[in-house]
Amino acid sequence: MTQPTLMSTYGRLPVMFERGEGVWLYDTEGVRYLDALSGVAVNALGHAHPAVVGAIQEQAARLIHTSNVYRIQRQEELGDLLCGLAEMERVFFCNSGAEANEAAIKLARLYGHRRNIERPTIIVMEKSFHGRTMATLTATGSRKIQAGFEPLVAGFTRAPYGDMEALRTIARNNPDVVAVLLEPAQGEGGVNLLPAGFLRELRELCDERSWLLMLDEVQTGNGRTGAWFAYQHDKVLPDVVATAKGLGNGVPIGACMARGIAAELFQPGSHGSTFGGNPLACAAALAVLRTIDAENLLAHVTRESEFLLSELRARLADVPGVVEVRGFGLLLGIELDRPCGELVRQALEQKLLINVTADRVVRLLPPLIIQRTESEQLLDTLCPLIEQFCKGT
Ligand SMILES: *Cc1c(COP(=O)(O)O)cnc(C)c1O
Repeated sequence: MTQPTLMSTYGRLPVMFERGEGVWLYDTEGVRYLDALSGVAVNALGHAHPAVVGAIQEQAARLIHTSNVYRIQRQEELGDLLCGLAEMERVFFCNSGAEANEAAIKLARLYGHRRNIERPTIIVMEKSFHGRTMATLTATGSRKIQAGFEPLVAGFTRAPYGDMEALRTIARNNPDVVAVLLEPAQGEGGVNLLPAGFLRELRELCDERSWLLMLDEVQTGNGRTGAWFAYQHDKVLPDVVATAKGLGNGVPIGACMARGIAAELFQPGSHGSTFGGNPLACAAALAVLRTIDAENLLAHVTRESEFLLSELRARLADVPGVVEVRGFGLLLGIELDRPCGELVRQALEQKLLINVTADRVVRLLPPLIIQRTESEQLLDTLCPLIEQFCKGT
């Protein structure tokens, strides 16, 4: 079904899209699909949003790439805007989530060496996902993602997600720890949420121990949870934030932001990227952030999230096999009591694009612009599918 010349990194679905508009994608036969995945949290403004298209067209006609050896106007504008929204001081631009986390990991190591810790160690979480480069797959809490790529990178230790006691135990026993890296809500790991108040307590522990608090907001950032960044719900500021996915609405861009001492660690020559922060990617990201603001999408995300969560809970309440419905903004998960990868194909047949992660969790990541009638269509297609699937018919 897929091209033999492409390395088999993905088990691809038998469909190819030709164009899109808003939450809709059209395949090569002209058939329309409701996109409740957004290219895995990327197309935050849906497909072909005029503000993004216009910004890319205009920038492409003017200047696509120069180099980070020169000043770049769009990068400076985006840096100001993004740092303001994230309440961070400085930013390094790259091209993906993994690269943003790589930058965070390198910051933690520089920070450790500055404190004369020879083997700086970062605490990472079980079930986490941080990317596919060697350091980020090592940080990732999934054996499946690591298997075959040994030797892994040194300098990581792991704790259960959301377990303060485990972190305190590590604090007592491991003097090499310099930072904690975690997702404010785990996406790939199965839409797992932190207990209320956890980030605030973790902030206190980090302060006590002089650890950097580093948040991977690659999936949760840029409005996905109804705030610019998920930590803002808790009024807690991390030292380092990595983001990517929704930032460029499909134009590859990642960002590693920092404040305080973490913002001062990189010096000329210590890190870099050829493409990172180029004029085209930055123009797209500027359009995305300005549009989220202009269209009041943060409040919209919160409203749509409440609607979808309460409807999913109501409609699936009596379905045996549904373990839990949970979500954070428009990152939504329906956990079943059995593997349910097959639901992706069944939904595709009904012209609905969804995802299953962690084997048993249906994950929805609709575009932030999804309208109420579209949310209703999503529910009308998905809920009966899950019900039938659980009945085993
Ligand atoms: C997707 C994702 C990544 C990796 O991003 P890439 O752009 O694929 O490198 C890292 N962290 C989280 C939380 C993600 O969801």
